[in-house]
Amino acid sequence: MDVSGLTIEGLHRALEAREVTVEEICKAIFERIERLNTTLNVYITVTYEQAIERARELDAQLSTGYKPTGLYGVPVAIKDNICTKGIRTTCASRILENFVPPYSATAVEKLHAAGAVILGKTNCDEFAMGSSNENSAFGPVRNPWDLSRVPGGSSGGSAAAVAADLCVVALGSDTGGSVREPASFCGVVGLKPTYGRVSRYGLVAYGSSLDQIGPIAKTTADVARTLQVIAGWDEHDATSANLPIDDYLAALNSDVQSLRLGVPKEAFGVGLAPEVKRAVETAIANFETMGASLVEVTLPHLEYAIADYYIIATAEASANLARFDGVRYGYRAEGVETLAEMYQKTRDLGFGAEVKRRIMLGTYVLSSGYYDAYYLKAQKVRTLLEQDFRNAFTACDLIVTPTAPTPAFKLGEKISDPLEMYLADIYTVTINLAGLPAVSFPCGFSSDGLPIGCQLIAPHFQEARLLAACHQYEQNYPTAHPSARTSAGSLRWPSL
Ligand code: GLN
Repeated sequence: MDVSGLTIEGLHRALEAREVTVEEICKAIFERIERLNTTLNVYITVTYEQAIERARELDAQLSTGYKPTGLYGVPVAIKDNICTKGIRTTCASRILENFVPPYSATAVEKLHAAGAVILGKTNCDEFAMGSSNENSAFGPVRNPWDLSRVPGGSSGGSAAAVAADLCVVALGSDTGGSVREPASFCGVVGLKPTYGRVSRYGLVAYGSSLDQIGPIAKTTADVARTLQVIAGWDEHDATSANLPIDDYLAALNSDVQSLRLGVPKEAFGVGLAPEVKRAVETAIANFETMGASLVEVTLPHLEYAIADYYIIATAEASANLARFDGVRYGYRAEGVETLAEMYQKTRDLGFGAEVKRRIMLGTYVLSSGYYDAYYLKAQKVRTLLEQDFRNAFTACDLIVTPTAPTPAFKLGEKISDPLEMYLADIYTVTINLAGLPAVSFPCGFSSDGLPIGCQLIAPHFQEARLLAACHQYEQNYPTAHPSARTSAGSLRWPSL
């Protein structure tokens, strides 16, 4: 069974025609995982037995003539900072190395109820802190397009698993770009929904005012199908929105011809790799060919976004990570004499260097004497950034920017320079600060054959419009769509 380029639509067609069973599909993917995971390192935990048992249940239902819809029979991968009942959830950290949650995240429950099959838990940066997946206690993930490069982060395992056909759809989480940047580096589609669109219950908190779970898939339609399932209000998450959910799949073909596309001039300046600039400008011209009108918009506070994000995100992280103290769950250091020593040693040995850096930064910006100068000011800048978007959206329907300033960089290239690493997030963090939905989709390749991502941003809760534009672009310019990969042979994984 060839699972390369497999989409939900293709899978459902094959299941309905009885050409294949869910069990066969899962086994074919597990066979690939067996072969490729030692190289790519995308899965931290593989749940073979549970998945096969589940597949058999679904096959039994199909054999009664049941018509697959939603995510029925779809093999999915879950980022390892999203809780899965009875399945180890490590957050790619030593401190949770053996943590088995007693409950599942709402998004996971919903996937299950929709008929998905969980194949395993994907590698990521420790507690989702990073842009390259190199901050994992389980080792880095490699980019399937070029094994010497990073897959992006922090949901690097999820994006690489989708790109390498080691699952059909994956869940990631996005606090400052962690779904979109890896999607861009791995040539797949990744959506960060509006803050509150998807329940955060069971997502291990990093920056609670920024975090969202988002789907990663090979096509926009598959992203839409997954969002349809995971979106919605949840009594367990007070910040989830009690608003109607659009029919995202039906909206994919809605009219985008009269679209007004906002192009922020600040997003195309210094620091942007010429190849990325060219690819995104080509995408913008293609949108124009499709009938969109271009509007120049301005995001005057964009230059403060990185500083703003790294104050707010670290402040929230320092508070959220206080719970990992070795008392109730997770790793506990041994050979200690006092309680204080136990806390200290547990956290010292349990957390990696980047997580400790964030906790220290966050504690500093919240400490008395510095609170007003850093944290309070950052909250004010956050409001200014939100206003920038509100103003821009009075003149346009969607905004377009690059997803990341460069294509995937080399493993080790930025790891010793945190500031350099943080700059990779320049186009993505503002979206979380403003709580907006945004998608990254493939729009071209670098001269080295690496995928380049384009980011589309919509007003709050306008995911339907966002996905429609993205889908129709993909139909007209199938840069890295699975059908283009196979026919044009543009997907090159020399070493796989
Ligand atoms: N790279 C950003 C960070 O390190 C974003 C991470 C994320 O979205 N989880 O904080």
